[in-house]
Amino acid sequence: MKKFIGAHVSAAGGVENAPVNAHEIGAKAFALFTKNQRQWKAAPLTEKSIELFKERCEEFGFDMDYVLPHDSYLINLGHPVEENLNKSRNAFLDEMQRCEQLGINRLNFHPGSHLNKIEIDACLDRIAESINIALDQTEGVTAVIENTAGQGTNLGHTFEQLAHIIDKVEDKTRVGVCIDTAHTLAAGYEIRTEESYKETFQLFEDIVGFKYLKGIHLNDSKKEVGTKVDRHDSIGVGVMGMTLFELMMKDSRFDKMPIILETPDPEIWAEEIKMLYKLV
Ligand SMILES: [Zn+2]
Ligand SMILES: [Zn+2]
Repeated sequence: MKKFIGAHVSAAGGVENAPVNAHEIGAKAFALFTKNQRQWKAAPLTEKSIELFKERCEEFGFDMDYVLPHDSYLINLGHPVEENLNKSRNAFLDEMQRCEQLGINRLNFHPGSHLNKIEIDACLDRIAESINIALDQTEGVTAVIENTAGQGTNLGHTFEQLAHIIDKVEDKTRVGVCIDTAHTLAAGYEIRTEESYKETFQLFEDIVGFKYLKGIHLNDSKKEVGTKVDRHDSIGVGVMGMTLFELMMKDSRFDKMPIILETPDPEIWAEEIKMLYKLV
């Protein structure tokens, strides 16, 4: 098996429930929040939770290379205000440490926002510095930068911005990227035809490099190319069409990495996963 497809499943009641929920929908990979994504503070993971999480991942056959947690939406690693930046850096370190405790080797996050208070390049430098600080204090966890739709003042919507951040990260072995297909389209990259698919991913290879690709968020989009609006849709339901998904499922550049659905209807995740495996 080369494609590891799953979804961002619920961890309600404890992280140890995520592998169960993933198994139930026939997933071979999964994403989760290791704490409430809308709160700054969370109780530490209990020994029991950690042990059960590891046990269940093993029981259901989830290799840690295919588990891609998502950090809290509150964190802004490029925050222009020192106090808020430090708060974000502390919260991000906590998220990285939770991954360490759970034996998870990568953490997906949105790079950050300049909030119209600092220049784009200065914000990107700040984000890279935030990553350096977290990597210095942890081991074995790769910081995986997700490309964004470019909504508001969110950065990371161009391949150049991703490359800028990577360039300033000291330990290149522990930085990576995750491509969200809905964000890619909304950010202005056409990917819906065979020709545009080829061009855009060649551009990605030239500017960022597939060697940094550590995961995929596989989403259809409710919003058109270049709208910079982040609205996911179920596979085949939005404006994406099926060509992109057909091409990706047959493309070896997306082998052996977590491919995660963040589509809006959990009720059909099992069907979506099945349908995608048929395209492999
Ligand atoms: Zn995300
Ligand atoms: Zn995403």
